[in-house]
Amino acid sequence: MIEAQARGVFSADGPFEKTTITRRDVGPKDVLIEIKYAGICHSDIHTAWQEWGNIEFPLTPGHEIAGVVAQVGPAVTKYKVGDRVGVGCMVDSCGECEYCQQGLEQFCVNGMVGTYNSVNKYTDGERTQGGYSSHIVVKEDFVLRIPDGLELDHAAPLLCAGITTYSPLHHWGAGPGKKVAVIGLGGLGHMAVKIAHAMGAEVTVLSHSDKKRDDSIRLGADNYVNTSEEGALKKLANTYDLIINTVSSADIDLTGYLQTLKVDGTLVNVGAPAEHIPVQAGALIGGRRSFAGSLIGGINETQEMLDFCGEHNLGAEIEVISADDIDKAYDRVMNSDVRYRFVIDNATL
Ligand code: NAP
Ligand code: ZN
Repeated sequence: MIEAQARGVFSADGPFEKTTITRRDVGPKDVLIEIKYAGICHSDIHTAWQEWGNIEFPLTPGHEIAGVVAQVGPAVTKYKVGDRVGVGCMVDSCGECEYCQQGLEQFCVNGMVGTYNSVNKYTDGERTQGGYSSHIVVKEDFVLRIPDGLELDHAAPLLCAGITTYSPLHHWGAGPGKKVAVIGLGGLGHMAVKIAHAMGAEVTVLSHSDKKRDDSIRLGADNYVNTSEEGALKKLANTYDLIINTVSSADIDLTGYLQTLKVDGTLVNVGAPAEHIPVQAGALIGGRRSFAGSLIGGINETQEMLDFCGEHNLGAEIEVISADDIDKAYDRVMNSDVRYRFVIDNATL
């Protein structure tokens, strides 16, 4: 067993505390990573605060991991000590089902293994623990290579926020001639703007205040709409080919957003509030519109996204924090006061 320094929560009302967790010994196909940075995703908060249901404590979250290879098993072929690598939301899957075979490990019918809060098949009965820690052991097939041009701290959020937005933008054909809107300019939203812009789409940010207007344009958006203004959505009727909804709350006018789609347009929900979001059927029927969802992306697609971000120099906009400030960062994320991803400097664990 390998001991790792970590921060963990011991109950749903926190706070984060210093702790030690264990990692399995490096197996033949395993990579030991010294984690340098870990992004704070809103999913970490949904999980730690038990908004998605009861979990087992203690929990060390973190699935936006960037670091350096510290050791490799004898059968590892893709990585060597010193390589700059990342780990996202998954650390394993069955590898054999129809979806794993297609590179859609996130939909593994036997259940993909989450980076944290999943059953750890290597250590009987324990849960997997995430990236707010000094080291992690991951099988090489679930390790990603971080392109040379990207700094590790700016790259960490790509491992979830980057792939979760790249995948639907790619799948639904964002590109030249397409009008794409992004609802919510947080961690996911700001990467959606950067990536959709780099793909050549015309991009609009739909934000629920006026505070992020200048930033949106700087990030690559062509237009900005403050959706809290009376009648804002009505003015946008029949405008977008594709909408990516990144809002973490169910308290939004989804029917109103659907009506801003063109005929055959699609609204892809990546935001994952626990509560139901009501939709009026007429908003779908009138316009043959689609309401879809998307979950992170497969391993090959994640590497493709990292390479795309490397080529286009698309790191995340980050605020690096000390591990002592995780609780404060969670509160600021809840207040939409994040520009645009908190990243923990793991040297401060
Ligand atoms: P985030 O940084 O907190 O961003 C969410 C943004 O939504 C906020 O910055 C805010 O943007 C907007 N928002 C928040 N509350 C709102 C409200 N009450 N009304 C209107 N707008 C509101 O969160 P994130 O890390 O990007 O994650 C977003 C969601 O995606 C979470 O639910 C997370 O669990 C989920 N997620 C899903 C996947 C997946 O695979 N599908 C992967 C990762 C995360 P404005 O200030 O611009 O309005
Ligand atoms: Zn995430």
